[in-house]
Amino acid sequence: MPVTPFNQKIKGTSLPVLEALQVDTLQVNVGKLCNQICKHCHVDAGPKRTEIMTHQTAERIVEALRHHPEIKTLDITGGAPELCPEFDFMVREAAAMERQVIDRCNLTIFYEPGKDCLPEFLREHHVKVVASLPCYSKDNVEKQRGQGVFDKSISALQRLNRLGYGTTDSGLELDLVYNPIGASLPPSQADLEADYKSELRERFGIEFNRLFTITNMPISRFRAFLDVTGQYEAYMQRLETHFNPATIPMLMCRTMVSVGWEGSLYDCDFNQMLNMRLNHGGPAHIRDFDAHLLAQRRVMIGNHCYGCTAGAGSSCSGAVMEKSNG
Ligand code: SF4
Ligand code: SF4
Repeated sequence: MPVTPFNQKIKGTSLPVLEALQVDTLQVNVGKLCNQICKHCHVDAGPKRTEIMTHQTAERIVEALRHHPEIKTLDITGGAPELCPEFDFMVREAAAMERQVIDRCNLTIFYEPGKDCLPEFLREHHVKVVASLPCYSKDNVEKQRGQGVFDKSISALQRLNRLGYGTTDSGLELDLVYNPIGASLPPSQADLEADYKSELRERFGIEFNRLFTITNMPISRFRAFLDVTGQYEAYMQRLETHFNPATIPMLMCRTMVSVGWEGSLYDCDFNQMLNMRLNHGGPAHIRDFDAHLLAQRRVMIGNHCYGCTAGAGSSCSGAVMEKSNG
C-alpha cells in the first residue's frame, strides 16, 4: 500500500505547512569526493566523484557568515569535507569570527595522504568533530562502511582523545553518529549512547561526548539498496507507521540552510541530494544570501521527510525528541 503523501500527513499537525523559524546554522556540502563508499550514503559519494566546491563559492559562504552574525554555526559536510581544498579556508575564517565549526568526519580521512596534521588543525580551531561510527562491532561497521574502516576509526578516535577531544572540560567536542545497518529505525538514543560509552571505554579506552542516532533516509544509495532487496515499500510504510507529529516543530530544516558545492541553497542536505532547490520565498543561491528572507521561507517537503519524523525523529544532531538530553 502506498504511503500517505507527506504534505497530507502534516495537515493535521501543529504545523500544517512546514515553515522556517530562523537561520542559525549554515550547513555546507563541499562536494561528493570521499575516500569511502558506504552502503547507506545519501550523497552517493566516493573516490571517483569530481563535484567539489570552488574558492569563489567558499568566499561567498564566508561573506554570508560575516554579514549575518545570527548564524552561529558552520556545519561542513560532504563527501569527506576535508578532501575539499577550501575546507581549511572556511574553517579558519569561521573560527576567526568565533562561529562554531562542525566537521562531519569519517575518521579514516586522517590516514589519507597529506592529512597527517588534520587532527591538530581541528584542535587548533576548536572544530567540533561529528564522526560516523555505526556500531562498536567491527563486523557491523565494515559491512556498511568497507573493509579496514573499523580499525582506522578506532585509532582515529584514540588520537582525538589524546588531543583532548571528547574529554571533560576540554571544550573539544567529539560526537559519534549511529545509523542502522539495515532497513530498521534507530533504537533509543540515550540507551544506545550508554552502550557505546561502556563498550568503547572498556574495549578501547575511548571517550566521547554524545551519540547521535540518525535514521537512514530512503534516497540515493540507501534507496537503491532498498530497491534491490525489495524493501522500499515496507521501509516507507514503517516510517509512516511511526510518524510522530511532535517532531515537526523541531525539524532541523526550520533553523538551517544547506549550501551545495556549486552554491545553490536547499532546506537540508537530503533535499540537496534530491535536487529540490529552495523555492518558497527565499533566495536560491549563496550569492543572493539573505538570512532574514530565508528565515521566512516555506520548506520544500516530500515523502523522504518521513525519515526525519519517524519515532523520536532524526536530524544531523540526532533524535530530535532527545536533544534536551545532550
Ligand atoms: S557516508 Fe560519509 S564516509 Fe561514507 S561514502 Fe558517504 S560521505 Fe563518504
Ligand atoms: S528531509 Fe527532513 S530536514 Fe529535509 S525538509 Fe524534509 S523534514 Fe526537513
